Amino acid sequence: MWDVIVIGAGAAGMMAAAHAGQKGARVLVLDHAEQPGRKILISGGGRCNFTNIKADWRYYRSENPHFCRSALARYRPQDFLALVEAHKISWHEKEDGQLFCDESARQIVTMLEAECRAAHVRFQLGCVVRDVAHDGHVFAVETVQGVLQARAVILATGGLALPKLGATDFSLRIAQRFGLRVVAPAPALVPFCLAEAQPELAGVSLPVTVSLMGRKKPCFTGGMVFTHRGVSGPAILQISSWWERGEAVRLNLLPGRDVYEMMRTISQKRPKAHAAALVEALPARLARYLIHGRMDGRPLAEQPAKSVRVLANYVADWTIRPSSTEGYAKAEVMRGGVDTRDLSSQTMEARSVPGLYIVGEAVDVTGWLGGYNFQWAWASGAAAGQAAAER
Ligand code: FAD
Repeated sequence: MWDVIVIGAGAAGMMAAAHAGQKGARVLVLDHAEQPGRKILISGGGRCNFTNIKADWRYYRSENPHFCRSALARYRPQDFLALVEAHKISWHEKEDGQLFCDESARQIVTMLEAECRAAHVRFQLGCVVRDVAHDGHVFAVETVQGVLQARAVILATGGLALPKLGATDFSLRIAQRFGLRVVAPAPALVPFCLAEAQPELAGVSLPVTVSLMGRKKPCFTGGMVFTHRGVSGPAILQISSWWERGEAVRLNLLPGRDVYEMMRTISQKRPKAHAAALVEALPARLARYLIHGRMDGRPLAEQPAKSVRVLANYVADWTIRPSSTEGYAKAEVMRGGVDTRDLSSQTMEARSVPGLYIVGEAVDVTGWLGGYNFQWAWASGAAAGQAAAER
């Protein structure tokens, strides 16, 4: 009989296991993969953006945005950073509070394994878990290698993003079977596909401000890149977490600039300048694409003010209507998940099933791009691990 069985040896699962083990619990971690922390290994371009020093509830999307407050306040980015430093992993801040390993994401996995080892946590990898049952006292975890018993179970199998890496809906399925509600999952932090994608623009990148038609918030400023299928880049990934099918997306291609005034100034200073002068402010390929068919060959100074205004509006308020996203195959995370109304925000324990905990991406808490998702995994894992050990 184990005190705690953690299902999923990812970011949240290993954190939960280490914290439960440190409290003296006998902990077993199960994973169907042959190695732990595979998403950590590929994260942050191989350097793992392991936290964001700004992380608090405002950087997460959830049906209940306040749910994540307690766990995030009790296990802060500084706490994870202290662990990183205790393991002598050198790190750097990239931008906007994003912290990365100087060398390799593997160091984070090695660190979590070492923390688990020190807490006498056992791992059973390559172990397919079929089901979890509860007889009112004890949990029975059915695996292909037999049935294991535990006083507490922590579901930490993450979300559906990147199925080729073994992502499954296991936690959602088990949670639903125990009567918990699930907020409909969808790919998030994911590129958009456009029906009218412009292959000739593929590779063009620029800073933009992006929002959703008819909604003031959220609004992101950051990089965008045209792809063969549509658009991607940090600003697009961010807004994708809020986008609903059929919704239009508004882009300002020259954020912080009055495009109409800029074009008028150009035409006053250089009466012979054409609209192509936009090339000075925008990538040339994109400027040519925007101007094409919207202005004749006359210099800007000779264009009717209305035409100049139409072009300026087009640049400052370009509307695209994504046909879809690139789906879980390209998504960084899943949004939605186990409904927070059915969980304790202090411990991540299911309100109706004492001893059952759900952590990490499987919960309806989705972070912005930039280290916020790992911080949620660490914080929710730590909260559940401690609570499960104390039962
Ligand atoms: P995971 O880390 O996905 O762990 C789930 C574990 O459960 C896995 O080991 C899996 O094998 C196992 N599992 C799944 N199903 C089963 C099953 N049925 N039976 C047994 N085991 C199962 N976030 C950041 O904050 N910073 C980044 O730099 C960053 N980069 C990313 C890059 C990419 C390409 C991707 C895809 C994601 C990135 N993320 C990043 C998001 C981050 O990886 C996740 O939010 C985080 O790993 C979630 O932690 P988790 O423990 O909930 O799930």
